[in-house]
Amino acid sequence: MGDYILLEVAKRLEEELRPWDTVARFGGDEFIVLLPDLAHEDDVLQVVERLLARVSAPYWYRSNELRITASIGIATNDGTIQTPRQLIQQADLAMYKAKRRGRNTFQWYTDELNRKVTERVNLRHALQQAIEQEQFELHYQPQIHHSGRVAGVEALIRWYHPERGNIPPGQFIPLAEDTGQIIPISEWVMETACRDAVVLNAESATPITMAINVSPMQLQRPGFLDSVKQVLARSGLPPALLELELTEGVLMDSAEHTIQALQALRQLGVHIALDDFGTGFSSLSCLKRLPINKLKVDRSFVGDEAVDSRDAAIVEGVVTMADKLGLEVLIEGVETAEQFHFLRTLQCDHFQGYYFARPMALSALKAYLKTPLVVVASQESPTSL
Ligand code: C2E
Ligand code: MG
Ligand code: MG
Repeated sequence: MGDYILLEVAKRLEEELRPWDTVARFGGDEFIVLLPDLAHEDDVLQVVERLLARVSAPYWYRSNELRITASIGIATNDGTIQTPRQLIQQADLAMYKAKRRGRNTFQWYTDELNRKVTERVNLRHALQQAIEQEQFELHYQPQIHHSGRVAGVEALIRWYHPERGNIPPGQFIPLAEDTGQIIPISEWVMETACRDAVVLNAESATPITMAINVSPMQLQRPGFLDSVKQVLARSGLPPALLELELTEGVLMDSAEHTIQALQALRQLGVHIALDDFGTGFSSLSCLKRLPINKLKVDRSFVGDEAVDSRDAAIVEGVVTMADKLGLEVLIEGVETAEQFHFLRTLQCDHFQGYYFARPMALSALKAYLKTPLVVVASQESPTSL
């Protein structure tokens, strides 16, 4: 069937081009079209539109209808191209971008695109060094129980690069997930956070849960459960004081396998929270089946509740639903007294956000935990006694 499609695509491409154009199969499912004498650069678009339409028209194979789409990358020789290979590489970069953009579409090569790809390669090398030289640090952000006490902290990774300075996790975590570098990074995070949690709990009168962000890739690895067991054993942290934060993205692939992995973790006594709830793949049927303890409502729903009654309605609905499902709720990104006072009226269990405390180094956190927090019902920040 694959051979038939390749032949058919080649035939259709050829039919759409002029006799002096070139079409060649480059390998796999990639074709190259060379248009040597366009009067104007933009004329290429007419050709591209024709090719996209022709390729996406149905194919018939043994009376079955088949459908495919093309992704097209365009590069033109602006006079700086030295070799044919360069032109092909540029078109290739643009083609991958078109693929990521949702297929059946085209993209032009730009220097900007080239810059981004180069930047990714550089970042990847820098990340490798960071792993080898342990350039990471963990900061901890308190999670406040509605009674006002600190019930837990979330471990958030910080990368201080010797030359580039601070690089936020939003920039390097997705890349590390793509390259697989997330695995050694996560092992370091887990080890360090559990060790610090034992120190914190030794100094605290009430138990403090350590919440750690887990990447989908980690959870899917066969050895994950064992590595959690080992870290707990090495550090001496009671499993009930470890909370793993997963995003809804985890449920996208192999949901059944994921549910089993989560159940095994729960049997250990480890807690599971669903992070950034409401922003992704919020399948309510999955929520019903997932063995989780807590929903972390994404901060995008913590707007100005007094103004945006829709946000308020969503948060209120989630809190009611979670209560009925026996789940705890934590609201992320509480930044102002107004937000907190409104959210307090909704019977949420936990809060986290700049209003209470920013993520901080372990030493600062220790000091923070020593000053009793009073959550006051006024327009001021929480004050220390
Ligand atoms: P997240 O797990 O949802 O973490 C919360 C993010 O919101 C943190 O950003 C935190 O600093 C920020 N935040 C907390 N309170 C407020 C607030 O009141 N207002 C605003 N605007 N932001 C607030 P951060 O540290 O930049 O981390 C971003 C994301 O990177 C995290 O989102 C998490 O998904 C990921 N991440 C961080 N550390 C790790 C890690 O060790 N492993 C993995 N896999 N992912 C991590
Ligand atoms: Mg988190
Ligand atoms: Mg979050």
